[in-house]
Amino acid sequence: MRTRSVFLSLGLVLVAGVALAQGAATLPRVRVLATGGTIAGAQASATDYGYKSGAYDVNTLISAVPNLDKLAAITGEQVANIGSQDMNDEVWLKLAKRLNEVLAAPDVDAALITHGTDTLEETSYFLSLVIKSDKPVVMVGSMRPATATSADGPANIYNGVAAAIDPGARGRGVLVSLNDEIHYARNVVKTDTTSLQTFASLNRGPAGLVHTGKVSWFQPMDKKQGAASEFSVEGLKALPRVDILYAHANMSADLIEAAVKKGAKGLVVAGVGDGNMTTPALDALTKAAKKGVVVVRSTRLPMGLVLRNNEVNDDQLGLVASGELNPPKSRVLLQLALTKTQDPKRIQQMFYEY
Ligand code: ASP
Repeated sequence: MRTRSVFLSLGLVLVAGVALAQGAATLPRVRVLATGGTIAGAQASATDYGYKSGAYDVNTLISAVPNLDKLAAITGEQVANIGSQDMNDEVWLKLAKRLNEVLAAPDVDAALITHGTDTLEETSYFLSLVIKSDKPVVMVGSMRPATATSADGPANIYNGVAAAIDPGARGRGVLVSLNDEIHYARNVVKTDTTSLQTFASLNRGPAGLVHTGKVSWFQPMDKKQGAASEFSVEGLKALPRVDILYAHANMSADLIEAAVKKGAKGLVVAGVGDGNMTTPALDALTKAAKKGVVVVRSTRLPMGLVLRNNEVNDDQLGLVASGELNPPKSRVLLQLALTKTQDPKRIQQMFYEY
């Protein structure tokens, strides 16, 4: 009798084991690439205001998310561990090349990237222009460090993975997910220094919503990205220098001239209004453009477009209008554009298409 029940329980354990193994085998496979940020940040104590970005490694981040293992088979790797205020061209190239390798692997269905929020809008746009796969890529960060009361990182990772494995994510390019929203890399901007509700696609609205892992998608992306993009990091060792200059009342030509002297190949102006600047600044920029430096007029305002030949005659002066792209995103596109051409007319076309 006793032997029979031992066999019976052994049988049940075996059946359960097989079912679990089958479940694990059918779970989508998501690779997490960690780069640091507040999401991996630690305070000296839970009541401390200050903290250090990039204090925890990728495995600690993954294991802190309840039920993540029921959603997907997760593996992780550390690409960098920095506050994203220190993000630079070198890490961008390393991350993009590694991401292309990871997405090409047959045992990876989607990627999740953890990143600081300060430059998330730039890194995500950069990646969206140089990633050659249709597989979903979702980037997440957090506004509160991992040690904080009500840390938002674990929920953002959970929802980010849910968005990445959702069938509707395929072909949408690089996405950014925080605080229950999903945004296209091209449209998303950080709008608030401390609030959890900081990311927004101001001109267009979010790409979708994700709440407790349940995903709803809105409008598709109508601009070129991913496999449709002409830009590539293949064989690229560095990116051209592009500086951003912030326009204001009484702006002089000094910083523009200094940037050109220091070797900038492109300049982006965070213009006042619809991409305007003082007459001395505009004269200096026109002079730079005549020397072959590509000049893009963007705006310091959070919303609206900078249209060509509005108050500034771009045709006559040889300048480029940024359209919908804010200064940091204009800088990203100009850096990549300059790997192909220095012709402002061709670059203007790219600003329409991307
Ligand atoms: N300074 C941090 C970073 O960008 C802020 C954050 O992640 O929220 O890495």
